[in-house]
Amino acid sequence: MANHFDAVIIGGGAAGLLCAGFAARRGMRVAVLEKNGRPARKVRITGKGRCNVTNNCDNNDFIRAVRGNGRFLYSAIAAFSTADTMAFFEGLGVPLKTERGNRVFPVSDQATDIVDALVGFAKDGGAKIFTGQAAKEVLAENGQVTGVLLESGEVIPCTRAVIATGGKSYPL
Ligand SMILES: Cc1cc2nc3c(=O)[nH]c(=O)nc-3n(C[C@H](O)[C@H](O)[C@H](O)COP(=O)(O)OP(=O)(O)OC[C@H]3O[C@@H](n4cnc5c(N)ncnc54)[C@H](O)[C@@H]3O)c2cc1C
Repeated sequence: MANHFDAVIIGGGAAGLLCAGFAARRGMRVAVLEKNGRPARKVRITGKGRCNVTNNCDNNDFIRAVRGNGRFLYSAIAAFSTADTMAFFEGLGVPLKTERGNRVFPVSDQATDIVDALVGFAKDGGAKIFTGQAAKEVLAENGQVTGVLLESGEVIPCTRAVIATGGKSYPL
């Protein structure tokens, strides 16, 4: 694995896979490091196995519905709206449907279709996904990222590292 990568994405969840796919399409050599045996395990259980992909509403309604102060989402959602999210998955061949409360699910009711779409987006763009690889440390010299140290002791040389290791819910 010890090639040099332009970007190493730590975490092969929804965020890491999307990031990897977009970075690879911008011409970067990208590696995704996922500590589990397969990527996006958490997405497989979302929405009780159906994955509530997004909400079919405009950006302001979306932000108003976020518990607490949702305003931190403005810049992200202005760049990639709920409509963009729906177009993205439908463009990858996952038809969607809108249910009660404007909740959006795959027509198949299978969260695995969303996982397959995310993994395919990353891989088809040229990103390499390495499973069973836990990152331990981002290495840097003089403020410049030089690599990612794995729990195994191997170092993956790179010029950028993205930490997309998710939140604390469902840590497995
Ligand atoms: C029961 C449940 C139901 C949910 N339902 C929905 C829903 O219907 N719709 C919805 O939008 N959201 C839902 N969510 C929330 C959704 O799962 C998260 O928002 C989403 O998974 C976050 O994606 P992520 O990529 O940021 O993090 P994660 O999905 O947590 O991915 C992070 C990845 O990083 C890996 N990782 C962590 N540390 C390291 C390391 N050191 N080295 C290498 N890899 C590492 C992890 O193994 C993991 O695969 C649900 C969550 C739960 C728990």
